[in-house]
Amino acid sequence: MILVLEPNTHPESAEYRMLTGELERLANIDYRVHREVGKEVTLTEIYLIGNTGALSVEQMRVLPCVAKVVRVSEAWRVLGRHQQGDDRPSSFDYNGVHFGQDSLNVFAGLCAVDSPESVGAMMKALAAHGQVCTRMGAYKPRTSPYAFQGFGAKCLPYVFELAGRHGIRVIAMEITHESHIDEIREALARTGNPTGVMLQIGTRNTQNFELLKIVGRQQEFPVLIKRGFGIDLDESLNAAEYLATEGNRKIVFCLRGMKTNMGDPHRNFVDFAHVPVVKRLTRMPVGIDPSHSVGSRARAPDGLLDIFHVVAQGVVAGANMILVDFHPDPSKALVDGPQALLLSELGHFLDDVAIARDAYLRRAELTRRQAAAG
Ligand code: PEP
Ligand code: MN
Repeated sequence: MILVLEPNTHPESAEYRMLTGELERLANIDYRVHREVGKEVTLTEIYLIGNTGALSVEQMRVLPCVAKVVRVSEAWRVLGRHQQGDDRPSSFDYNGVHFGQDSLNVFAGLCAVDSPESVGAMMKALAAHGQVCTRMGAYKPRTSPYAFQGFGAKCLPYVFELAGRHGIRVIAMEITHESHIDEIREALARTGNPTGVMLQIGTRNTQNFELLKIVGRQQEFPVLIKRGFGIDLDESLNAAEYLATEGNRKIVFCLRGMKTNMGDPHRNFVDFAHVPVVKRLTRMPVGIDPSHSVGSRARAPDGLLDIFHVVAQGVVAGANMILVDFHPDPSKALVDGPQALLLSELGHFLDDVAIARDAYLRRAELTRRQAAAG
């Protein structure tokens, strides 16, 4: 059960103390407080854990400071959408960029950072197209121990400086170990915090529970968590819940295709039909990664790349983020060159995304009008 408190409830106030006093008297119930401090309002939620079946919503509703009571039966207590009218926030802001189930952000960039020249060329192209987000892989989890593992902390200073120079506000960057969070924090501080970072949990680490707990405990960086490629959706949503129960609510969930031979000839079986499913089950913004699901520059007879086709499918279904590989010279890319789009294709790509986004917004509007007409 979740008690949503009145906005700006002060933890030192007499009413709040009365509330916690009442909660402490409840038998077999523990509680955990989550406070989200915003610029204008502070939101507080109290999670009641234990024998909550014995409590009634009415009984809790009349306690001091309580604005709303949400009974949770589902597994994803923090992130789930629990009942009709569960209107707890499904969005957040980070470094001036809005992320929500209502918005769409494009994160075009390098799968793996390979040189300052590639990073600079990528960011220059993004700036020329008004983009403020990108992806930059510094720590690469590779199938083979002999493959290039990413430049790690070494490349961070120039990545962050170039980002600042080109007005990039958020970089999605995968981490594979907790020490990478400190390396990123230190490099950002050393370069004067010119940009922001969204920590990415890759599909191979979706069930690395200790990493999830550590990433969830910090609230400085938002998190992009990929769906696990060989586990069911419930398990992946539970992984996101690990982040949230530790305190970090700034989470984007990203579909990236499933490992199955039936997905051939794509690298993974494209699962973007699950965009509306995850938006219904949880309050997380939902992203799509067309590069790691399709895995090639294969082109359909209509001339469109398969990557463009699956992006449109995800966006027309309401996707909120696109994480997509580009490279100035894919033949020289150290990781995943064959699936990279060219910088000369960025404008075309964004125009194509805009068509799909417009179609989605029109579909949602049509549905609202139909519902209003009864
Ligand atoms: C990536 O986005 O660079 C990546 C490795 O993706 P995934 O974890 O989905 O394989
Ligand atoms: Mn890759």
